[in-house]
Amino acid sequence: MRCLVTGGAGFLGAALAHRLVRNGHQVRVLDDLSAGDPGRLPPDVVFARGDVRDRPKLWTLLQDVDCVFHLAARVSVPESVLYPREYNDVNVGGTVALAEAIRDAGVKRVVFASSATVYGPQPVQPVKEDCWPHPQAPYAVSKLAAEYYLFGLGELYHVETVALRIFNAYGPGQNLPPSHAPVVPLYLKNILTGASLIVYGDGSQTRDFVYVDDVMDALVAASTAPNVNRATINVGSGQETSINHLIATLEDVSGRRPEVLHNPQQSGGIGRLVADLGKARSLLGYTPRVSLVQGVEQLLRLDPRFAGKRGGSAWSRRGAQGLLR
Ligand code: NAD
Repeated sequence: MRCLVTGGAGFLGAALAHRLVRNGHQVRVLDDLSAGDPGRLPPDVVFARGDVRDRPKLWTLLQDVDCVFHLAARVSVPESVLYPREYNDVNVGGTVALAEAIRDAGVKRVVFASSATVYGPQPVQPVKEDCWPHPQAPYAVSKLAAEYYLFGLGELYHVETVALRIFNAYGPGQNLPPSHAPVVPLYLKNILTGASLIVYGDGSQTRDFVYVDDVMDALVAASTAPNVNRATINVGSGQETSINHLIATLEDVSGRRPEVLHNPQQSGGIGRLVADLGKARSLLGYTPRVSLVQGVEQLLRLDPRFAGKRGGSAWSRRGAQGLLR
């Protein structure tokens, strides 16, 4: 299969490029490098630096492509509150530009990296894809609007489209921008450097943390699965994890015990969020394989920023404390 990965020099995009090349596919990547790093890409990939709204460039890259994985986006929820126009331009405008270019290029399928943030607060958990979305931040609105554009334009242009609503992905190579770092690598970095962890709210808020390899399984399956046209499909771990439990897991795996500071003044966001995976199972044959403990172990082992910085195991730490008492 010949594929184009937009945003392919980012965290998930580069992992996808590696997986696709390993599976024997030909891969092209388009990324403007606003957050990406082409050094992450495997050598066999054709890399083009450019904006996802640049239709002539897209059109060139789309020649003979069977499947597009559309991951290029601005990805920060808090930043989107400050710059909603920018998020609309890139995330919605970029998706529309891509759909237009695809119309003229003969692509068969587009797999879109949507987000669980489209759900917002939901009374029923785990969330199913058919619940009424309540996107709150401009980032979430842009992802939902992009889904609708892609499905609508795909129908008009006879291109199959599928949107994966990815929950909180984590794994080696995830970006750590100072202004909006994702919680798993941020806490891990702080733990390993002896810094404190800041928890918004009381830490009882829950999320669904899904390891990057499981997300790759779902993205790849979505490129060939039958009966997924215009489907939205959750991609998570199916495990509901509170921030307090995440911290305990990071402590156990890293063998270190950080100072934890609670900031009750700042909201911890929505109270609960966890994926129902029934649709992913039935349409994609998707079953997450990596537990949170295994995922954090992998992160510590494989990410050069963390590798070799681990303390003693939780068992030995507790044991040592026991001996000292
Ligand atoms: P990322 O920031 O690492 O990757 C996004 C990539 O898009 C970056 O390499 C960036 O340079 C590129 N990009 C941004 N604007 C562009 C533009 N105008 N033209 C071309 N390229 C552009 O983020 P990620 O975590 O790898 O996310 C990838 C996709 O998955 C995004 O669409 C994101 O919304 C979606 N997603 C991610 C998560 C997660 O937990 N990581 C969860 C839900 C959805």
